[in-house]
Amino acid sequence: MDWNVLADKVLKGETVTREETLAVLQSSDDELLAVLQAAYRIRKNYFGKKVSLHVLRNAKSGVCPEDCAFCSQSKTAESGVEQYGMQSVEEIVAGARDAESMQALRYCVVTSSRAPSEKEMDAICAAAQKIKAGNSQLELCASMGFLTEEKARRLKESGVDRFNHNLETSERFYPSICSTHQFKDRVNTAKIVKKAGLDLCCGGLIGMGETREDRVDLAFKLKELDTDSAPINFLDPRPGTGLAGQDRLTPNDCLRTLAMFRFVLVDSEVRIAGGRETCLRSLQPLSLYAANSMFTNGYLTTGGQNFEEDKKMIEDAGFEIGHLVNA
Ligand code: SF4
Repeated sequence: MDWNVLADKVLKGETVTREETLAVLQSSDDELLAVLQAAYRIRKNYFGKKVSLHVLRNAKSGVCPEDCAFCSQSKTAESGVEQYGMQSVEEIVAGARDAESMQALRYCVVTSSRAPSEKEMDAICAAAQKIKAGNSQLELCASMGFLTEEKARRLKESGVDRFNHNLETSERFYPSICSTHQFKDRVNTAKIVKKAGLDLCCGGLIGMGETREDRVDLAFKLKELDTDSAPINFLDPRPGTGLAGQDRLTPNDCLRTLAMFRFVLVDSEVRIAGGRETCLRSLQPLSLYAANSMFTNGYLTTGGQNFEEDKKMIEDAGFEIGHLVNA
């Protein structure tokens, strides 16, 4: 496969086929730099050399009633993860100030729950109003489980810009990682988010034992849902979870996967998310050739590189923190 010809096709506005997408995932290590170079041409066309930073806040941790096998916050996990109820409005607002100090484009407030309770909705909406009333340029994302149309509208009216709800994997593989809800439930919330006029942040978790075809299915489903942003997590197996014994992906597999999402999702944000440091290891900077966004300063229940380390990595690789206004 000539990867530059594939990039030309995408840049002309054509959609890659399933076969071409699978070929990206099947490419050899010898071809990796050529694959990344081709993905980079697409990334550069839409996002230049900008890297948008996102900062997470775990506003409610642990004891989630769902049984997602990868998640240390599930009540079925024996992970020893910190457990606490919904944080106060003041704590969430203070987190926004921290995010701004790290040049974040977006502040992502996450709660471990099947769906947000009224009390959780009240706290997020009040925090969003306060953050926006302070003329903050920070964009706000919430991730709170399943939404109803009414709750989605309320979030939008309160100033929340975006809602995250990951599909995680393909429809075929989904029953292997969760029994308390179905893939179609997740798709339903993604559609509700779009209908309410919120940006949709919808991605997945790679390395749970799914096939390459499952990853391709996930990419095309995200495209069909017209996701504005796709966080791509790499499984960092957590002790006490159902996937604790799973092997980590190799750095090269992670890079091929990020390139594949760029070929399919083209002008959507592709974000390197959880597992970046532990799975990509010393090859982390290469991921910026396919992805245009990343979380900084750690994740929900695990640490990560701090802002200064990430800033140095981005600048050393010749990229810059920021976001193209017209992207
Ligand atoms: S719904 Fe979210 S917080 Fe709950 S177990 Fe699944 S991934 Fe974890």
